[in-house]
Amino acid sequence: MKRIRLGAIALGSVAALGLGLAAPSIAAPESGTTVPTYQEFKASTLQDIDKQYIVNGDEPAGTNADLRDFYDRMVGADAPINGLIVNTVGGVDDKWSATQALNLTYCVSNKFGTSKTNVVNAMNQGVALWEGATSKVNFTYVPAQDASCTTRNNAVLFSVEPTNTTQYIARAFFPSTAKRSRNVLVNATSLMSSGSWTPGNILGHELGHTLGFRHEHTRPEAGTCFEDNNWRPLTPYDKASIMHYPQCNGSSSDLSMTDTDRAGVRALYGS
Ligand SMILES: [Zn+2]
Repeated sequence: MKRIRLGAIALGSVAALGLGLAAPSIAAPESGTTVPTYQEFKASTLQDIDKQYIVNGDEPAGTNADLRDFYDRMVGADAPINGLIVNTVGGVDDKWSATQALNLTYCVSNKFGTSKTNVVNAMNQGVALWEGATSKVNFTYVPAQDASCTTRNNAVLFSVEPTNTTQYIARAFFPSTAKRSRNVLVNATSLMSSGSWTPGNILGHELGHTLGFRHEHTRPEAGTCFEDNNWRPLTPYDKASIMHYPQCNGSSSDLSMTDTDRAGVRALYGS
């Protein structure tokens, strides 16, 4: 495990528990830390198949300029203020419009090959978690687009595509992410072999990001894994949240959805 400390937070390559949703991730504040230069940070940051940098475990930071913005935000981050929390961009909730939230279309790439059925099933299970909490969110699988399932396919809102790296299981995007970067990348082998983390819960976590939800463990109550302050709380802190990495002082063993998660999605999108 290689780690680079960054100011009040730490950035490092972590395949925590062998189950990390992605690497690198951000870990706890520690004393005596040193701040890496941007070049050191960049060199330590994973890029996936579409050359996007991955930060906070499984969130895309875009390409060079975006990664620089992320780095600057991290270095400049204040101590965190005091569930489910929604990402904010410029202080505004990062969420879909009410109309779009009812029409979240996606394809699942044929490039998954013999693993595609597993991914389709896991997506269905993950979708069901959020749709079961509110009628204001509706995902629709569009298999007719699976043969050309990329970020360039404008017939769907987002694509679900395989990633070749085994350094993480999956990664997603936020509602504010540009269409050209709006995909969920999945390592189908890791998806099916992550112990107590079921495939449906893993993709449920990723779909939480696509709805705007941040990692619950960035909240100060976690005491570790701080990311940044660009979020707004929707519920009290929930250490068992589907959006809380178990390895970040979480309490869930299977990444399942909690009643608090369900309350959180209703708080953002309605019930
Ligand atoms: Zn995540």
